[in-house]
Amino acid sequence: MSQNSPKTKGKRRSAVDIIAALTVTSLLIASYYFIPKLASESEATTYTEEESVESLVKFGFNTENYVLEAYEMGKNQFVGDILYKNGISYTDIAALENEATDIYNVRKIRAGKNYHIVRKDSCGPACALVYVPDPLRYVVYDLRDSVEVKINEREFVTCIETASGRVESSLWGAMTAQNLDFGLVDLMEDALASSVDFYRTQYGDEFKLIYERKYIDDKPVSLGRLLGAYYKNEYGEYYSILYENDKFEGYYDGEGRPTQKAFLRSPVRFSRISSKFNRRRFHPIKKRRIPHLGTDYAAPRGTPIRAVADGVITKATYARNNGKYVKMRHDRTYETQYLHMNKFAAGIRPGVKVKQGQTIGYVGSTGLATGPHVCFRFWKNKKQINHLRENFPPADPMDEAELPAFYKQRDMIKSFLDLVEPVDKELIVDNTL
Ligand SMILES: [Zn+2]
Repeated sequence: MSQNSPKTKGKRRSAVDIIAALTVTSLLIASYYFIPKLASESEATTYTEEESVESLVKFGFNTENYVLEAYEMGKNQFVGDILYKNGISYTDIAALENEATDIYNVRKIRAGKNYHIVRKDSCGPACALVYVPDPLRYVVYDLRDSVEVKINEREFVTCIETASGRVESSLWGAMTAQNLDFGLVDLMEDALASSVDFYRTQYGDEFKLIYERKYIDDKPVSLGRLLGAYYKNEYGEYYSILYENDKFEGYYDGEGRPTQKAFLRSPVRFSRISSKFNRRRFHPIKKRRIPHLGTDYAAPRGTPIRAVADGVITKATYARNNGKYVKMRHDRTYETQYLHMNKFAAGIRPGVKVKQGQTIGYVGSTGLATGPHVCFRFWKNKKQINHLRENFPPADPMDEAELPAFYKQRDMIKSFLDLVEPVDKELIVDNTL
């Protein structure tokens, strides 16, 4: 990553930060094209253990005094067993597990994630275990003096990047053809939901995006917020600008009208529709014609499922066909239902209020399901409907008192979107800021 890139350290940015960063960016615009292209998306989602060569300190341990060995957590593997095999007594393991309960319970440790055994010398017993639940954090289970458990945030920088593209067959295709992060599709669709019908994207539609990406040791680790989006189709040109302060966060068009809908389009990010709403579908398991009154989103087991709008949980239970499912009421008209969950999110039970975007459960294949997916069902006045065909009300309008501050933010983001090179021939992307 070039030192010229706008960056902030490990914190959410305020609008002022963004404006400051963008101002810096505008001074550097001429140098963009000399900055080497960033790692591709496939690397972006893979977390590797390599730290910079100069760094002697890894996860808080000086590698001149400690040996760190990297492993991947296996299926049905327990921290207690790992530590016991590495020379720790059952008494110390019990003390550690007890200490960990309220900080980072060892039961939360998942197969497939990375962990490290730390020793004072390569033949000695373990003196700590470091668990890496995600690229932005690590947990140290420390057995050196007293038993101690600590969650540490890794230092990251937030860079502002842009992307543009043109739809050839589908928006999904336009994104994947360019190695763009799948998450950007969701972010764009939600940000422009009121102005663009993404159910009917056309050949030749164009988009431009400006968004944040988090980096650790110059490697991309996750997407941040979408700051602005532009979409052009046969009906016109549309902008969506992120505006947020202490009270709210939302996307608005150039005049400050909300561009989001009251409902998110899909209950799972990074998902694809594996089966559409169809009143005449042939059922793959039951081998007869049974209407499919939902939309199936395929995603890996354990992917978070989010509430598509604010609401109150009315059911969080198990049924033979539905498996584990959640149903919620949003207002007098609409209810939504999420089927085949692997498990519910903590605290999800009838009567609980949830916010739009909140995780309510995780993708699974409980009940009658061929593979991990969410069967998403949308109820309008107690009848099931195809939510992708429904014209939902827009999100709440912006408070008029906010408009002057919003216009400043709009002008800044819009001027940047206008600077992003439009696509003029094949699919071209510029994510090299
Ligand atoms: Zn279904």
